[in-house]
Amino acid sequence: MGALGAGACLAAQSVPAEVDVVIVGAGSAGLHAARRLQELGKRVVVIEARERIGGRAYTNASTFGFPFDYGCAWLHKADDNPYTPLARQWGYTLQEHDTALEGLYFRGREATADLRGRATRVEQELGDRLEKLGRRRDVAASTAVRRRSEVDDAVATFHGPMSSAVDLDELSARDYLNVGTDVPPNFLVKEGYGTLVAQYGKDVPVTLNTAARRIRYGGEGVQVDTDNGTLRAKACIVTSSTGVLAAEKIRFDPPLPAWKEDAIAGLPMGLLAKIPLQFSKPEFRYRAFEDVLQENPGKRDIYFLCWPFQLNLLVGFVGGDFAWELSAAGEAEAVDFARNALRRMWGSEADKYFVKGDFTKWASDPWALGAYAAATPGNAAAREGLRRPLADRVFFAGEACAPRWTQTCGGAALSGMETAEQLAKLLP
Ligand SMILES: Cc1cc2nc3c(=O)[nH]c(=O)nc-3n(C[C@H](O)[C@H](O)[C@H](O)COP(=O)(O)OP(=O)(O)OC[C@H]3O[C@@H](n4cnc5c(N)ncnc54)[C@H](O)[C@@H]3O)c2cc1C
Repeated sequence: MGALGAGACLAAQSVPAEVDVVIVGAGSAGLHAARRLQELGKRVVVIEARERIGGRAYTNASTFGFPFDYGCAWLHKADDNPYTPLARQWGYTLQEHDTALEGLYFRGREATADLRGRATRVEQELGDRLEKLGRRRDVAASTAVRRRSEVDDAVATFHGPMSSAVDLDELSARDYLNVGTDVPPNFLVKEGYGTLVAQYGKDVPVTLNTAARRIRYGGEGVQVDTDNGTLRAKACIVTSSTGVLAAEKIRFDPPLPAWKEDAIAGLPMGLLAKIPLQFSKPEFRYRAFEDVLQENPGKRDIYFLCWPFQLNLLVGFVGGDFAWELSAAGEAEAVDFARNALRRMWGSEADKYFVKGDFTKWASDPWALGAYAAATPGNAAAREGLRRPLADRVFFAGEACAPRWTQTCGGAALSGMETAEQLAKLLP
């Protein structure tokens, strides 16, 4: 195995002289794969393009003075999520929060309690119809929407952009069955989901600031060419997002077969973007953990999680096509959009206590290029293709490959562990 050059910044431990497996990416999947392989007695090294571990699990406390999750925030399917026991063991503050609709606004107009009740019923009905449709056919999830009123549009927003990160016409109804976002019980983490993932990975041997540029797998084993030299190992696990794979940030030699390219193309990245807004005073208008949705024409909907953990923060969310549009427009436009949405609902009170806003940048983040992957109509089987290894030595893992609860951080962890076990059986 070749040594990494002097430019490599080593975290936790130095690169071992010989490894069995190189793992590309120190996100939830890569960290779980590494630890599972180590438990199975294999020597591993993880290379990470960023200057930190965690990938799309990222908590930052410097913007607002308390931890804020720029990426994943909810432990979905928390009764079965591998991170839940760790969070409990390490003393994290968990709060159950399944999205409800304490506030529903059409443009600026507040919906009556009757309409909110109807929205809740329609949401349940649409969920049931999507499940039935997905079991029968791999068509656009929007086929399940019965559009009768703006309530149907609001509800479709929750099932599509705010949950799957794509508009329902771009989502395979069959793939909807795989998706783990919003599967209860859902827990928020006060100290940050990103903090939890980073704590899980703190002893994993990761080499930071080291991008894999080319993977050669034509001869014996694999050679991974990085910015800091070439690593040789018996096998590798690639955990890059489908956005990164589609952008060909890693070259494969021999080139990827057509079935693998089709799988990547069938699982484009969706986008969920957050617009956190800080105020000098929390809990006005709505109470902590309440949910407010503003439905706007042209699918320009915005959802607010109000005052999580009684903090002075409203977290705006936009998703799907509109999130890409706002991301192209930039942070100032996004914060303006969210503040205008609040003004329409709450008038001058929206400005009275405003301190500052921020906007997540996953659309342009070179090592994510979106939030998470969703299969397009007709392509639900693409996840199978993405999971399939090349020549029994180039393996793929991550949220898009997850055996269950795709799109989620917990699903990515499972994918990492299962891929590690599958690979370990093949290693001499
Ligand atoms: C805004 C947003 C909100 C979300 N909300 C939730 C939520 O509430 N709950 C939930 O469960 N999930 C949520 N998710 C999804 C969740 O964050 C992801 O599913 C999960 O973190 C993905 O983990 P992963 O290991 O598959 O990928 P990643 O976290 O992307 O890890 C892959 C790693 O590989 C690195 N990498 C990529 N290419 C290379 C290369 N060539 N060389 C070296 N390193 C490379 C990347 O830098 C990254 O660190 C959200 C995501 C976003 C963006």
